[in-house]
Amino acid sequence: MQAMPDVDAFRTETRAWLEANCPAEMRIPMRSEKDACWGGRNWTFQSDAQRQWLETMAGRGWTVPDWPSDYGGSGLSAAEAKILKQEMALIGARPPLTSFGISMLGPALLKFGNEEQKRKYLPEIARGEIRWCQGYSEPGAGSDLAGLQTKAEDRGDHYLVNGQKVWTSYADEADWIFCLVRTSSESKHKGISFLLFDMASPGVTTRPILLISGNSPFCETFFDDVKVPKDQLVGELNRGWDVAKYLLGHEREMISGMGLGGAQSLGAQVGPLDDPMLRAEIAGFDVDSLAFSAMSERFIDQLKAGEAHPAMPSMMKYAGTELNKRRHELLMAAGGSDALEWDSERSRDGKTARDWLRTKANSIEGGTSEIQLNIVAKHILRLPGA
Ligand SMILES: Cc1cc2nc3c(=O)[nH]c(=O)nc-3n(C[C@H](O)[C@H](O)[C@H](O)COP(=O)(O)OP(=O)(O)OC[C@H]3O[C@@H](n4cnc5c(N)ncnc54)[C@H](O)[C@@H]3O)c2cc1C
Repeated sequence: MQAMPDVDAFRTETRAWLEANCPAEMRIPMRSEKDACWGGRNWTFQSDAQRQWLETMAGRGWTVPDWPSDYGGSGLSAAEAKILKQEMALIGARPPLTSFGISMLGPALLKFGNEEQKRKYLPEIARGEIRWCQGYSEPGAGSDLAGLQTKAEDRGDHYLVNGQKVWTSYADEADWIFCLVRTSSESKHKGISFLLFDMASPGVTTRPILLISGNSPFCETFFDDVKVPKDQLVGELNRGWDVAKYLLGHEREMISGMGLGGAQSLGAQVGPLDDPMLRAEIAGFDVDSLAFSAMSERFIDQLKAGEAHPAMPSMMKYAGTELNKRRHELLMAAGGSDALEWDSERSRDGKTARDWLRTKANSIEGGTSEIQLNIVAKHILRLPGA
């Protein structure tokens, strides 16, 4: 099939522009989480190149290429945005900005936000000026998210928020939170609202939670009489569940990306191995990984075209995270006892083991694997009683 001439021209221009503008340092594979720029008030750039890459890409609207230009994007079509992604992958360019604002809140605001909210928050997200965290889960409401109890009372010109969230990723580093609150107890699902507020508001406190990997990427988050202006409600009062579900679809799409390996196959990554059983397992994994990449490309195309089944993000999240867990099990097996090193320079502070332990959370975060399977069973397979 022949490519469209304007798409070809776009590819040529994009390739030349990236070649001229992507700093060499931003083409080196990422080695730590900080190599990805998360932006926000508290962000410390790791290098001049990281800052320059963010500013150059944001200036062109390419941190969020398919968002409208009025809101910080550059209004690329789905085909153009895909070309940009492909061309960036070709030179190994790092994403200029990674954030929950881009992958989760932005799409929800584009669909449910009013004009004023879109003009205020979206360009700030696109320029990396504001970092968001997600206030969904509570001690008594994880899988049963709609059972949440954090309360927002109507106090005339503002809501008064009281309650507790848990597992709030990067709550101690984020500037603002998108938060689910209970505004009515009459109906479980139709009594939830979606609020945005500043984490520096009086009454917000966070307490870090230490993980098995030794890192602490998330917190308990407490709200004591937090005043939230009413214009920071997204969508209709008591209809926040619609916003929450839509955002979760985007979160699951993002998490499913964990299933995509890098440019190298796992076999190439681990190199020659004596154990024939392990070699066979790795070869089997690489075949499944290729199949997942193809499935993922089709899924993203369908999603961008508005043709994806609403339960597909659950299917992809399940497949991608189970694959990622398998990848890290195999990396541990291939690494032998060396992979168990925890604190040495040689092991880069136990990177293999810590990354492996981190993947244990993949099938929990963004909704557990069991919950994704329930959704697939009910909405795709149409099985009863799931
Ligand atoms: C790394 C990480 C980051 C996270 N980041 C955030 C964040 O930023 N913001 C946020 O709000 N939350 C965050 N979470 C929380 C996450 O969304 C919840 O942990 C998840 O939804 C599960 O809820 P829970 O922990 O309360 O487990 P529970 O809901 O108590 O589940 C316990 C077990 O029971 C199973 N189970 C429960 N109900 C069913 C059912 N109906 N059918 C079958 N099995 C069932 C589950 O699958 C699980 O195995 C994060 C979690 C992790 C691990």
